[in-house]
Amino acid sequence: MKSLHLILGDQLSESISSLAGYEPNQGIVLICEVLEETTYVEHHKKKIAFLFSAMRHFANSLIEKGYRVEYTKLNDPNNTGSIRTEVQRILEKFRLSKVIVTHPGEFRLLQEIKRWENDFGIHIEIRTDQRFLCRPDEFLEWSKGKKTLRMENFYRYMRKKYSILMSGNNPIGGQWNYDVQNRKSPKSELKIPEPYSAKVDEVTHEVLKLIDKEFSSHFGDLEPFYFAVTREQALESFSMFVSSRLHNFGDYQDAMIEGEPWMYHSHIGFYLNCGLLLPLECVKAVEEAYAAGIVPLNSAEGFIRQIIGWREYMRGIYWMKMPEYKRLNFFGVSHKLPDFYWTGKTKMNCLKQCILDTKKNAYAHHIQRLMVLGNFALLFGVDPKYVNDWFLSVYADAYEWVELPNVSGMVLFADGGFLASKPYAASGSYINKMSDYCKNCSYKVHKKAGPEACPFNYLYWNFLDRNREKLESNFRVNMMYMNYDRMSKDKKNNIYEDSIRFIGELGDGKVV
Ligand SMILES: Cc1cc2nc3c(=O)[nH]c(=O)nc-3n(C[C@H](O)[C@H](O)[C@H](O)COP(=O)(O)OP(=O)(O)OC[C@H]3O[C@@H](n4cnc5c(N)ncnc54)[C@H](O)[C@@H]3O)c2cc1C
Ligand code: SF4
Repeated sequence: MKSLHLILGDQLSESISSLAGYEPNQGIVLICEVLEETTYVEHHKKKIAFLFSAMRHFANSLIEKGYRVEYTKLNDPNNTGSIRTEVQRILEKFRLSKVIVTHPGEFRLLQEIKRWENDFGIHIEIRTDQRFLCRPDEFLEWSKGKKTLRMENFYRYMRKKYSILMSGNNPIGGQWNYDVQNRKSPKSELKIPEPYSAKVDEVTHEVLKLIDKEFSSHFGDLEPFYFAVTREQALESFSMFVSSRLHNFGDYQDAMIEGEPWMYHSHIGFYLNCGLLLPLECVKAVEEAYAAGIVPLNSAEGFIRQIIGWREYMRGIYWMKMPEYKRLNFFGVSHKLPDFYWTGKTKMNCLKQCILDTKKNAYAHHIQRLMVLGNFALLFGVDPKYVNDWFLSVYADAYEWVELPNVSGMVLFADGGFLASKPYAASGSYINKMSDYCKNCSYKVHKKAGPEACPFNYLYWNFLDRNREKLESNFRVNMMYMNYDRMSKDKKNNIYEDSIRFIGELGDGKVV
């Protein structure tokens, strides 16, 4: 029986389970660039270019190794525009009777693929995605009987499971988590290393021309283009991180500096999420760097926690809670996303810098996403749907399985605290502590009231005040209500009036 081995755009790993047992005479590999996947949200130009180029390079490497690959380019005259219709076309063309595919990353696609058995009258084999370190059913098993699911407990389970940074049954260094050491404020004398930059080859050049022509209305700068698009390049980029950035990764994990979008982060999310890098190989390399004395424990542990902890935890929650997770809106908020998320036209310098970094690089690091871009959407009360659409479209590492729990769960608390124990709401003083954005801002971070005051300051209290019923019983937030209650009536009035004025001005299309 001849099979179609379908490789989706985020499955660019030679070890992917859908290729296991492939035999050249018996199977055809299908990889396709389709309009539907690039436009269900309008992805950043650089994200589409990155994925198409990585897909083309991956297809070429398979062909060199003897695989029979059918590759559909976006502008091929035969291209039917969706994964479904491309699969149908190739099944008919080669009279194939079976599709083998690795479990897709998104719920939407899984539902679609499951329909094919009926619709096309063929057998569909959906194989486990073994690149992840915790299967969805294992996550469910882990969660059983727990009153609350907390990442830290899951992370400890994963550390033990893979015996990472362990000394017998105990964590190396005596602690599981060194986050308290990882909150250094940015210093102006930091010399941040240059990020990895790949050369644009012929394949990427052709893709860039295509994206420029077909997606000119999409958000974001296409060039300069510097992402790795092959496994070799991605490995090179990761090795540069380990040798030049990882040492400071822990210390400055939460720091933000104007004009320094890359800081000491790894910039491997795009590569991990499409399969050019594998999570366990990255974790092992970092563990070895620590064992060799090249990097301190707080950096190694902090990095490893992001991968075996947060990344796997987010995926576990996604598959556990879909599809209802997408519809959650705990605070019942309904504001549209302000236009400045697309243009960067705002007087709030922190937002402006993070949005312009995003536009240029299809990248912003975690604290920019969480404490600036996400925090504002939370305080302002933007409908989770709009926030999710934005985050899904603008980042090169964004796929729903990881974007949605981060946005709806971690940032917006739209699940009412299933994922996070409290909303990550913060006033301007946190942003000022962790960044140098405030010194170039039109607003004054130390002012609490009036048109010159930092909007994060009054919006923060206004957020707490309007959601009192929903949050007051949360013991991690309760202290803030006690502080609020101690404020004078005048202060509370100012918070209310400034918030109403600001929201009104934004609604009237003023640059705020
Ligand atoms: C609002 C919001 C939206 C986000 N959307 C995405 C997304 O679409 N795709 C995505 O991969 N990550 C997302 N994240 C998580 C995190 O911000 C990115 O993984 C990270 O910024 C990628 O940059 P990096 O590779 O330099 O990461 P580093 O800071 O160097 O971290 C290393 C790796 O750890 C993993 N990681 C770190 N934090 C998280 C996390 N919270 N959830 C899952 N994995 C994590 C990533 O794989 C990352 O590449 C989001 C976070 C927030 C707050
Ligand atoms: S003053 Fe407020 S709005 Fe301006 S950069 Fe600082 S936190 Fe952002």
